[in-house]
Amino acid sequence: MKILLSLYLVFAVIVTQFFAAYFFSKGRTSYRKAFSALVLCVSVYLFGYLMIINSSNLQEMIFWNQFQYLGLPFISVLWLMVALLHTKTIYFLRNRMALLLFFVPVITFFMRLTNPWHHLFYINWEARQLFGYYTLYMERGFWYYVNISYTILCLLLTIIIYFLGYLKNQSGHSKSNFLVFFFASLLPLIGIMLVLFAYEERSIDYSALIMPISLLIIGYGILKYDFLEIRTLARETVFENNYAGMVILGPGQKIIDYNKAAQKFFETLNISLGNYPIELVLKEEPELLEIFKSEIARDFSLIIDGEERFFEIEGVPLGDPHEGNTRMLKSIRDVTEERKIQEKLRELATTDSLSGLYNRTEFTNLAQKEFALAKKRNEELSLLMMDLDHFKFINDTFGHAAGDEVIREVGNIIKTSFRKTDIAGRLGGEEFVVVLKNTSLKEAEKAAEKLRKNLARAKVNYRKHEISFTVSIGVAAIFGDTNNENDFEDFEDFLKQADDALYKAKAQGRNCVAALG
Ligand code: GH3
Ligand code: MG
Ligand code: MG
Repeated sequence: MKILLSLYLVFAVIVTQFFAAYFFSKGRTSYRKAFSALVLCVSVYLFGYLMIINSSNLQEMIFWNQFQYLGLPFISVLWLMVALLHTKTIYFLRNRMALLLFFVPVITFFMRLTNPWHHLFYINWEARQLFGYYTLYMERGFWYYVNISYTILCLLLTIIIYFLGYLKNQSGHSKSNFLVFFFASLLPLIGIMLVLFAYEERSIDYSALIMPISLLIIGYGILKYDFLEIRTLARETVFENNYAGMVILGPGQKIIDYNKAAQKFFETLNISLGNYPIELVLKEEPELLEIFKSEIARDFSLIIDGEERFFEIEGVPLGDPHEGNTRMLKSIRDVTEERKIQEKLRELATTDSLSGLYNRTEFTNLAQKEFALAKKRNEELSLLMMDLDHFKFINDTFGHAAGDEVIREVGNIIKTSFRKTDIAGRLGGEEFVVVLKNTSLKEAEKAAEKLRKNLARAKVNYRKHEISFTVSIGVAAIFGDTNNENDFEDFEDFLKQADDALYKAKAQGRNCVAALG
């Protein structure tokens, strides 16, 4: 029995020492430090008890009992402090409060130390043998009862504080944690009751046996609680500092929470967020309200500091969809830069960089669609195909770079010569094409002639040279009349006819407009 008890105590002392060191070294939070001090006091107390049961004479026992009182008076008050700090009932210990709390324990400490003179703590003591080991039997004095009453008071307060923490706390994990601490703190109280009422017969210090178990539970609880606390903290930080604006809508589409970015977004609209229904907050912005009510991702644009910015507003349902999806996380993401890059890529893929007109692929795509549409609707559609005259000569005389300048200038002139709905492209080399919507052959020939004249008048300045150039233009048209013989099989046919007309223009001596027929 003695060996078993000693082994248990040795083990408990080692564990409590380890705990004290561990929580002290990781003492980021004040309750961890308080817990470290508590465990250290318990360790001292248990070690004293271990030595008492292994002592062979009364003198040694009294010495180790005195040793126990280095830690014992402070255990319950530290237990209370851990609870106060842990449940955030207080955030740190003020001097006045420390004085109040530690008053009785400090007196107890000195009372025990000076007991031989006044016998107010223990009136008398003797060694008794029980189950083969000696134990100290003491007749309790006045201050012993003051101390034990204070100890019981502290432990009672501790369990009340944990219970209140359990009742008050909303989040599930802290709630269940506080309940565990509540029961863990009940254990030493039971131990003290046993000491008070069962001591006489058995002389076993029950609180010394119980305490390591409840400390183990609390230590584990603190580690788990901190871990969960940090996880929650990390999630909150991500929410608060996210680049995307976030708004949480609860039942009745009421705003429950929002982050900094969301606040900033709404500030640009002169709207301040609050815990109101979204209908109320966005009553001046019907378009945005509709987007917020919709469940699919939608775009919204805003002028901020004179620049148009694009936002993608998306909704993520929160919680159980069976509850009717009343809870939503709305994210507002600034996609302006993405859109700019997309636009740039699209431009690079569809535009010819030299002339600024559509490239061959894009022109063919768009023109083919127009061609199919015009045929379907029996509408007129014309096509101009042009080729610079004697371009090889320009290249040979002024250099390839000069030729490029000419192509660039022709692109500019073509761009500004037609309607927005017309489609102009560079097919390659120095060949250009324009599709004119709802335009008859006659009108197209006129437009071509005007363009030809404009181009013939234009001059490109290149390194002191003034370069003139001319074009030949072939024209083809769909007449929009179903009975017409000029009904092309497909777009290739249409192009071919314009190309043939261009060949005719070249044959007629260049710098002119020609059509077949
Ligand atoms: P024609 O009046 O019969 O059209 O005579 P041309 O000399 O213009 O003959 P053609 O159209 O067959 O020749 C096109 C020349 O244009 C050939 C090539 O060297 C030149 N060329 C093609 N692409 C470019 C370009 O991107 N830049 C420059 N500078 N020259 C080009
Ligand atoms: Mg040519
Ligand atoms: Mg050519």
